[in-house]
Amino acid sequence: MLSYRHSFHAGNFADILKHIVAVEVLEHLTKKDKPFEYIDTHSGAGLFNFKSAHARKLEEHVNGIGKLKQVDYPELASYFKVIKSYNEAGKSNLYPGSPLLAKYFLRPQDRAWLFELHPEDFQYLCLNTSRQRKIKVTCSDGLKGMDALMPPASRRGFILIDPSYEVKTEYDEVVKAIVKAHKKFATGTYALWYPVVDRATINKMKNKFIRSGIKNIQCFELGVSPDSDEHGMTSSGMIVVNPPWGLFDKMTKLLPKLARTLGETDELIFQCDQLVEE
Ligand code: SAM
Repeated sequence: MLSYRHSFHAGNFADILKHIVAVEVLEHLTKKDKPFEYIDTHSGAGLFNFKSAHARKLEEHVNGIGKLKQVDYPELASYFKVIKSYNEAGKSNLYPGSPLLAKYFLRPQDRAWLFELHPEDFQYLCLNTSRQRKIKVTCSDGLKGMDALMPPASRRGFILIDPSYEVKTEYDEVVKAIVKAHKKFATGTYALWYPVVDRATINKMKNKFIRSGIKNIQCFELGVSPDSDEHGMTSSGMIVVNPPWGLFDKMTKLLPKLARTLGETDELIFQCDQLVEE
C-alpha cells in the first residue's frame, strides 16, 4: 500500500539537488543529435502546484526553491528556464517533477519511459505528459520496468531512480537493480536519489556500490542540518554512475553555495565524492 505523495514535498531542498543533476545529464545528452532514452522508475505526478492543499500543508518549497534567486545562480540558468517554461509569465506556482523536466529536453528522436505505481499520481502523470507517443507511461513497478528495457534500443540513456523508500528493503533493492541493469547496459547514466535519515544505512548503500565492480561513480550530497537521529531527513544525495563530463566540477562549486542558501545552520553541509574511479 503506497502512502507517499510527492505533492507534499515538491520543490524542497532534496528536489533541488535531484533536479539540478537531472537537468545537467539531460542537457548533456542533447549535445549530440543521436537519440537517447529517458527512463524514470519512480515518476510521481509530473507537475506540482504550490497552491494545492498538499503543498500548502508542509510548505517545503518555501525553504527550497522559494529561497533560490535566479539572479544569484547564473550557473542554473537551464534549471530555471525549464521551471519557467511550465509557468505563466510572472507566476511561479507550478513546479515540474522529473518527468516534465525530461519532457522539456526530449527531441523528436528521443523517447521516455515513465513508471508510477500510485494510481492517482499515475492518472496525473498521464494528463501532465499529454499522452505523447514518444512518452510511454506505465502503472507498474519501475525497477522491473527498467530491467525489461535494458539495454535501450538507442544505446544512449539516462535512468533516474527516485524511490520514496517507504520500505527499508528498498535501499538494498535499488543497488541490486542498478548493478543488474548495468550488466546489460554499461554505458548508460544512472542517477539514484537517496535521503539521509540514518547515516549508517547510506554508508552501507555506498559501500555496496564501491564493491559492485561498476566504475566511474560520483556522489553528491546536500544537507540543511547535521545528521541526526531525531529530525527525519537532514540531507539527501545523488549517486551517479557514468556522470557527464564536467558534472563533478560544476557540483564542486555549486554545492557549497547551495548549502549556504538552503542550510538551516552555520555549518555548510555538502559532499562531493568520486566514489569509484573511471
Ligand atoms: N521522481 C519524482 C520527481 O522528481 O518529481 C518524484 C518521485 S517520488 C519521490 C516517488 C514516487 O514513486 C511516488 O510517486 C510513488 O508513488 C512511486 N513509487 C513507489 N514505489 C514505486 C515502484 N515500485 N514503482 C514505480 N513507482 C513507485
